[in-house]
Amino acid sequence: ALHAAERPTRILVDLDRIAGNLGAIRAHAGVPVMAIVKANAYGHGLVPVALHLQAQGVEHLGVAFPEEGIALRRAGITVPILVLGGIYGPQVGQYLAHELQITVSSVEKLRQVEAAAAALGRRATVHLKVDTGMERIGVHAWSAGPLIEGAVASPWITLAGIYSHLACADDPASPMTALQLERFEAACAHFGRIGAPVPPRHIANSAGILNFPETRLDLVRPGILLYGVLPGSECRPSVPVRPAMSLVSRVVYFKVVRAGHTVGYGGTWAPEVDTRVVTVPIGYGDGYPRALSSRGKVLIRGREYPIVGRVCMDQFMVDIGRDSAWNEDEVVLIGRQGDAVLRAEDVAAAAGMIPYEVLVGLNDRIPREYR
Ligand code: PLP
Repeated sequence: ALHAAERPTRILVDLDRIAGNLGAIRAHAGVPVMAIVKANAYGHGLVPVALHLQAQGVEHLGVAFPEEGIALRRAGITVPILVLGGIYGPQVGQYLAHELQITVSSVEKLRQVEAAAAALGRRATVHLKVDTGMERIGVHAWSAGPLIEGAVASPWITLAGIYSHLACADDPASPMTALQLERFEAACAHFGRIGAPVPPRHIANSAGILNFPETRLDLVRPGILLYGVLPGSECRPSVPVRPAMSLVSRVVYFKVVRAGHTVGYGGTWAPEVDTRVVTVPIGYGDGYPRALSSRGKVLIRGREYPIVGRVCMDQFMVDIGRDSAWNEDEVVLIGRQGDAVLRAEDVAAAAGMIPYEVLVGLNDRIPREYR
């Protein structure tokens, strides 16, 4: 993306906090970690985050699509990378060429991978995916036998894991997680029946790590927790993580809006009395949610103020009432300013979104700075 040298809007990523969060998750779970860095490392920047995690000795990385894994390999990442998404046939050769671990979720997919491996004369490293309640990708737990047998017997397959994904772990009261774990363990028991060693088993996402310690198994797969954000409002804060991302901008315009004069597209908001309004140069074109129109908050001079009117593509307006603010004053959209804090969770709640959407939505038009 094209970045101006002094663009006032930027994402600040504290890599040491990500390292600290990794350490906290490791200490809590007591098993190796597969750090999930898909979707531009949840908006934090794929390559810088992965390089830092690699320097911290992370055991494994997880991405959604092969192109994300290829970008990591090109950047010099050497740790094992699992592609979590379903295989699209024409891409199988790419996984092999870049030493990406493949998620295999049916006998048919297994045959496809074997054929590509045989054609290239190199073994494929595979994690089998078992569906235990998500109905997304994965062989149903009760019919995993033939897939397990096929993978164990294949001369073209190195089995590096077997896994599933939790659908409801953000709700500590949901019976779904216990059911999923039970189904998963039943599928894994098939290795014993055929006298084969069980590869590393993994099922826990961030919510599993926080709410269901029994889901840790042999490896955990935290995404959002690594970035210091909780997956849901019901989650137990059982791991001491800290948010790694701040989103900041600066005031670029100040004016007095007269009582009754509307602000922004559609004229959806007007002050009842004369008020001071500042303009902030970031909008939905940067991935800042338009749903924050007249709902979001920002911090200026250590105080919280409301966004008024609709968020535009590149700008939005903030009512500072009778307070003062100056051009170039810092505006915090996510993060801390003085004693005031706006968490990604708060922004998401105001927008009617989940924190994942807020983080991942922030696009490449915003420069990222690392420290
Ligand atoms: N494992 C799989 C298969 C995923 O798809 C994801 C993300 O959706 C994760 C782990 C990480 O999830 P979370 O960010 O909730 O920890």
